[in-house]
Amino acid sequence: MDGCIFCSIVKGTIPSATIYENSEFKVIFDIAPVSKGHALILTKEHYDNIFDMDADTASKLFSLATEVARAMKNELKCDGLNVVQNNGEAAGQTVNHFHMHMIPRYAGDDVGINFKSGAEADSEELQELAKKIRKRI
Ligand code: AMP
Ligand code: ZN
Repeated sequence: MDGCIFCSIVKGTIPSATIYENSEFKVIFDIAPVSKGHALILTKEHYDNIFDMDADTASKLFSLATEVARAMKNELKCDGLNVVQNNGEAAGQTVNHFHMHMIPRYAGDDVGINFKSGAEADSEELQELAKKIRKRI
């Protein structure tokens, strides 16, 4: 897609530190890492975000994510790893080409990926909402 920075990275017209690639995905280091080893899994095809990705690509993506996570853990000796994937501006997405953040975590680090639980939900409301969403799956 014209003007998309991650499409340019996939094509190689913008350089990136590439960890791995196959026919459908490219795994690169984030240019502004929040922790040592912060990587991004990019789809080679341009999808804006999760809302327009097909199930087959999504399943291959997560399968690759498990491999990348284990490789990162073994090499970086991180203590944990966050998989973060932002969809839409309201959710913090700044680059509109699908990417999954792989963020290694180290005990005691101050990476801020914390959201606090809200008040306890009303169980009847949850059941109603579940029914409505289920109908759309
Ligand atoms: P998000 O906010 O989820 O859309 O994340 C976009 C991420 O892309 C940020 O963490 C940026 O640091 C990263 N980023 C932006 N431009 C580049 C680039 N040229 N190479 C690698 N990472 C990039
Ligand atoms: Zn793109």
